[in-house]
Amino acid sequence: MIKSALLYASVSSLLLTSCQPSKASKEKVAVTNATATVKIDSANTKPADNKTIMARREVPVLCYHQIRNNIASDSKRAHDDIIAPDKFREHMKMLADSGYHSILPDQLYNYLVYGARLPEKPIMITFDDTDEDQFTVGNATLKKYGFKGVYFIMTVSIGRKGRINYMTKEQIKQLSDEGNTIASHTYDHKNFAQFTDGDWKTQIDEPTKKLEEITGKKVAYFAFPYGVCKSSTLHKLKEYGFKAAFILSTARDENYPLYTIRRIIDPGRYTAKNLYYSINKSFNKTKSKQSG
Ligand SMILES: [Zn+2]
Repeated sequence: MIKSALLYASVSSLLLTSCQPSKASKEKVAVTNATATVKIDSANTKPADNKTIMARREVPVLCYHQIRNNIASDSKRAHDDIIAPDKFREHMKMLADSGYHSILPDQLYNYLVYGARLPEKPIMITFDDTDEDQFTVGNATLKKYGFKGVYFIMTVSIGRKGRINYMTKEQIKQLSDEGNTIASHTYDHKNFAQFTDGDWKTQIDEPTKKLEEITGKKVAYFAFPYGVCKSSTLHKLKEYGFKAAFILSTARDENYPLYTIRRIIDPGRYTAKNLYYSINKSFNKTKSKQSG
């Protein structure tokens, strides 16, 4: 335990050393901080270009799937998508104790596009695939710390019961009414990179309408199944009314930074300390150095 903590501490200090901002980027940070204190009226402010969006400091976004204890039949690969309830609670406590404040996609969008101010130590907590434990354990835990979450719903699964139970319409409506964001994760988890023309109706348009019918609110955000996107069709998400979309931890597309916002999975094997350092390693850079 101590050994791994030291290892992480040294990795973290190495990162801090290698990510010291140059004089030029220090100036950029100062400008960002100065504008951050000004209230932005998005209706009267020119939206930022892609280069400006790419240059803004990334906000950490966490991704969760199943919140349950492992069973013998779980494959090794599935372990990344399963976190035990106690561990999830411990990780949320760590975030609260570390001073993180949860934000929602509209806040992130206004920050990226208009430079709007975010709370101190912002973080976004997202859930994919509609599992009921995200409501029973996830939402209950988030409430305890005053956090709000983002729920990316795969509409085919709504209300299904079986080996995995999924959220009902009523639970989704409640999450929305309580101020969480309900967003789209396709109809049945089809890989976005393999969409055919007809999929825009079944995987995008109809699920959006269904979620809007349930919540009574506009659905404006999307998460790619498997985190996989395709540059050549990203523009269509905008045409279908989406303001932003979320991938996993791969590099953003510099031509579509709003449609390739990065998230990291908090795998069940992580301790709270592992998660803390992983957030810093993946997001707390002054500027993304990734390409492609
Ligand atoms: Zn998914």
